[in-house]
Amino acid sequence: MSAKLIKGKEIREEILAEIKEEVEAIKEKYGVVPGLVTILVGKDPASVSYVTAKVKTALSLGFKEVQENLSADISEEELLALVEKYNQDESIHGILVQLPLPAQINEKRIINAIDPDKDVDGFHPINMGRLLIGGSEVKFPPCTPAGIVEMLRRAGVPTEGAEVVVVGRSNIVGKPVAVMLMQKNPQANATVTVAHTRTRDLAAHCRRADILIVAAGVPGLVKPEWIKPGACVIDVGVNRVGWKISKKTGRKIAVLKGDVDFEAAKEIAGWITPVPGGVGPMTIAMLMRNTLNSLKYKLGIS
Ligand code: NAP
Repeated sequence: MSAKLIKGKEIREEILAEIKEEVEAIKEKYGVVPGLVTILVGKDPASVSYVTAKVKTALSLGFKEVQENLSADISEEELLALVEKYNQDESIHGILVQLPLPAQINEKRIINAIDPDKDVDGFHPINMGRLLIGGSEVKFPPCTPAGIVEMLRRAGVPTEGAEVVVVGRSNIVGKPVAVMLMQKNPQANATVTVAHTRTRDLAAHCRRADILIVAAGVPGLVKPEWIKPGACVIDVGVNRVGWKISKKTGRKIAVLKGDVDFEAAKEIAGWITPVPGGVGPMTIAMLMRNTLNSLKYKLGIS
């Protein structure tokens, strides 16, 4: 294997340890801790497992954590009222509404109802606008893109002047990560191309990339011959391609694959993220950091 493995799990642990230390120091000095409310509507198994992990992490860091587990048939008005309750709650600094929401609820209306200064997922249009402007305007970068930028920084992957190709233009990954890496700052300063399903000759774009970020949700989309030797490959894709029995628990678990053929790509790339254990673990760490930052903005100590 020639590529250095960028291990999201290890980086996450480093970040969580830093957050925990800061939470303790703030608690000692100001007598407050970050407060996060997680709002889960229904019992979709993937959503339940994401929320469970977020709750567990928040508690392990000493946050105040409030769980709102709601029935799948809750009305839009009831959910809006709950969001408003936490907008007004001084002890809550982050509001997380787990997506997707059931069909009777307009997701956009819910996201837009969250106080932008408690929008720790960073999906509110005001926070998207702040992200586009960049610099000190940025309050809550969306968690997965923020995790990618943090991984690049901690793995020592140079971004200044680099050709970055992002495959995928979703609002939660592709667009924001492209915006973050094109900003004028030493952690970015890249030349960014965004590719999608209408891109002509995707392979040619990928071959130019010093940093190739793939967030398409198509297993094995990026072929090994599309990777420039020595490039950094960030595979955001999480695709369930089958089931297996866990050796640890004996339970049936999903077999996950990324958007890149990892086994072949690792022989060509200079750095690569595995799936699972790459970008995935970073997302929760960034959510925790956004929640801590929300409290720090409020205290005027950021
Ligand atoms: P999405 O909303 O479905 O967007 C996929 C994007 O990829 C679209 O812009 C689409 O282009 C593009 N695309 C799809 N097939 C393509 C192809 N054959 N060639 C070129 N472009 C193609 O997906 P998402 O929410 O961004 O998620 C992408 C992947 O990342 C998924 O596997 C998801 O599970 C994973 N993910 C992981 C994390 C994490 O690890 N924490 C977080 C979020 C997402 P068009 O715009 O033209 O349709």
